[in-house]
Amino acid sequence: MRVASACAVFVSITVGVAWAQTRPAPTPAPGAAPTLAAAPPQATAPAATCAANPNALGVTRVVEIDTTGGPGFGWEHFKMHDFLRAGEVVLTFDDGPWQGNTPAVLKALADHCVRATFFPIGKHATYYPEILKQVAAAGHTIGSHTWSHVDLSKKQYQEVEKAKEEIEKGISAIRLALGAPAAPFFRFPSLKHPPEMVTYLGQRNVAIFSTDMDSFDFTMRKPEQVIKSVMAKLQKHGKGIVLMHDFQHATAEALPELLNQLKAGGYKIVHMRAKEPLKTIAQYDEMVAKEIKLPTVSDRPTSSVVRTISE
Ligand SMILES: [Zn+2]
Repeated sequence: MRVASACAVFVSITVGVAWAQTRPAPTPAPGAAPTLAAAPPQATAPAATCAANPNALGVTRVVEIDTTGGPGFGWEHFKMHDFLRAGEVVLTFDDGPWQGNTPAVLKALADHCVRATFFPIGKHATYYPEILKQVAAAGHTIGSHTWSHVDLSKKQYQEVEKAKEEIEKGISAIRLALGAPAAPFFRFPSLKHPPEMVTYLGQRNVAIFSTDMDSFDFTMRKPEQVIKSVMAKLQKHGKGIVLMHDFQHATAEALPELLNQLKAGGYKIVHMRAKEPLKTIAQYDEMVAKEIKLPTVSDRPTSSVVRTISE
């Protein structure tokens, strides 16, 4: 467990389950060339920049979530556990980690000493494990968002085992990329919530996060549009869990100014932490390990296989 900032207040939430659905699908995540070189995790959160920012937004409150029974959050689908007070905001970012955009989001959050919750795609975590490690090192909470961002309400995922595999491989991929377990926080791709999987996550003690307000940033190309969308929705609702995408360039560009405006608007940031980490299931750990590297008999390091004999 990491230690919360001195000004933070811990609140424990214990909760149950409910579900519902429907919303437009976001842009699917594209493929990318894998870069599997492991980078050492950063040891400490980059909090030093806050001293240089007298207008830092900061984290006002840290809540610990007991995910027993798979509680649902986000008023768009789960009409329960409305834990935010007036003016409070939880920032969430989906579909990373991604080169360029995720580091830019991390920098903007660090400049404001803000912590958020990330829902990375399993495959993306295997492409850019070093970026995901930076997310963890900065003190953010990392949940999961399936292995390959499929809509689990589609016909081909009606077979429970297939849908389960997508969820579990996503969780295992994050464990593998981070070298540490994810939080038991899950967001369904496209916010499509098949009831069988809601039940499965409940039995697995994984909380489900929809959103109180969707920025629809994946439809936007200009950062000003993202800022306008988030600020207008917050003004209307007065508080909420906000869904954005660290995968999206416009969002990465929008974030410094968006955080400035949240501060100017008097909003307070709440950071969500999980009570317990999420244990992976061995069979899916193995599946993910095999997918990212074809198994060979030899496991020798390159230095012992390839030797320069002339140059
Ligand atoms: Zn997504």
